[in-house]
Amino acid sequence: MKKAIIIGSGVAGIACALRLNHRGYKVTVLEANENFGGKIQEFNLNGFRWDMGPSLFTLPHLIDELFELYGVEPKNHFNYHRKETICNYFWNDGSSFSVNSDSCKFINDASKFFNEDPEKLGDYLINSQNKYDLTADLFIEKSLHKASTFLNKKAVKAVSNIKALDTNLSLNEVNEKYFRNPKTIQFFNRFATYNGSSPYKTPGIMSMIPHLEMNLGTYYPKNGMRSIVDSLVQFGKEKGIEFIAQKKVKEIELNDKNVKGVRTADEFYDADLVISNSDVYPTYKNLLPNLEMPKSVKTEEKSSSGIIFYWGIKKNFPQLDLHNIFFAENYREEFEQIFGNKGFNIDPTIYLNISSKEEKQDAPDGCENWFVMINTPNNLGQNWEETRMKLRQTVINKLNKILGCKLEDLIVAEDYLDPVRIEQRTSSHLGALYGAASNSKFAAFLRHPNFKSNIKGLYFCGGSVHPGGGIPLCLSSAKIVANLVPTA
Ligand code: FAD
Repeated sequence: MKKAIIIGSGVAGIACALRLNHRGYKVTVLEANENFGGKIQEFNLNGFRWDMGPSLFTLPHLIDELFELYGVEPKNHFNYHRKETICNYFWNDGSSFSVNSDSCKFINDASKFFNEDPEKLGDYLINSQNKYDLTADLFIEKSLHKASTFLNKKAVKAVSNIKALDTNLSLNEVNEKYFRNPKTIQFFNRFATYNGSSPYKTPGIMSMIPHLEMNLGTYYPKNGMRSIVDSLVQFGKEKGIEFIAQKKVKEIELNDKNVKGVRTADEFYDADLVISNSDVYPTYKNLLPNLEMPKSVKTEEKSSSGIIFYWGIKKNFPQLDLHNIFFAENYREEFEQIFGNKGFNIDPTIYLNISSKEEKQDAPDGCENWFVMINTPNNLGQNWEETRMKLRQTVINKLNKILGCKLEDLIVAEDYLDPVRIEQRTSSHLGALYGAASNSKFAAFLRHPNFKSNIKGLYFCGGSVHPGGGIPLCLSSAKIVANLVPTA
């Protein structure tokens, strides 16, 4: 049997393992950490449970596919439900808006709250879907680095509709074209943060992202985000995939222009295929010392990072839901700080996730498990300890004002994640959450391909390579790799 080694057990690594095993390879996943799952981790403290990384779950069929591949009913392994309320939004002036998953209701509610023309809101969502439908096949589902991707009807259609994709405008410019209320523009600008980019720089094609959330819906996995990893790893083991924890790969060994295998501290694993699910930067820097790191990997702008406070709160807040956003007053300034000055806005946007709204057992009775996240620049050696302490107070002050509470007296359990910890725990270069930022219209083309053209048997999957970060795109990278490798 031909052997495939996967370096890293992020969601893309696990998905790739399942796909290659299904294609007849003998698959081994080597993970440096004690736990599988990469950024998708959980922890417990004082009776609370938190998902530490991703909290927004879209396109669940991409997980289902991994079970269906084997002719198995996904629901026997992994369950989720669609959320009726997508997200609650709050502004400093005390106003708030709740987004309903029914797009007709959303248009109706939003036209009243934002005082916008309902037709424009409807058009925006239709255009969002059109952009997605035109480009998903080209930019998300296939390798951008194979001629065959461009030699089909869909690609010709996408290219001939290039103007409709708004690639020459920024996302903010597209939103300003549609709407007049700064709050509506801010609401639709926020979707740039779904891949760690700035709405003032990311191309207008990103206005396809609302389609994923507002037309296709957001979901919550039973037992939390961590169940994505647990169910897939369990299933993979049942199918014969070998998952080995605490096995850091030190080098990918090459034999001229072919992969030979990988070396850990104490073993050599020979392989026909090596797939790196580690961030592409440390893959070149540490694991491929004899290959030159491509210029694009060296110089590409990384996505934003984040500081997350995990707070156990001894109170229930009925005005909050699973996903909540507290917007900054000056959004442009916030992104100029993150991507320009590599600093902080004095009034940051706060994302608050509370999984105990869905799973009562995630917090003791009368309590909630808060995941409080602020987007930050990536790690360039800033004083994160000092920054975190300052941000903590800023966040508490802002939330106290909007929610009318005294959070200092309500926090009964606490931990945090910051760019340094993200980098240490997952090897994500500079602590970036989503690999490379999409702050230019060329970003998609500059991301590292899913294969190495001059080394036979070497492949890449995960958030730092094509098509990008976030669970759905990581799953897509695994699918692209599985379609590129030779038959076993
Ligand atoms: P990673 O999760 O990056 O894992 C890579 C794995 O490889 C790690 O386990 C690492 O230990 C291992 N590894 C690295 N080097 C080696 C080596 N040499 N040997 C062995 N193992 C190695 N996405 C969403 O879709 N929705 C969200 O709401 C969302 N929110 C997020 C919030 C936070 C705080 C974070 C951190 C991320 C968030 N993301 C979100 C992004 C999402 O988590 C990532 O894009 C995705 O999980 C990355 O998966 P990956 O396959 O690239 O691997």
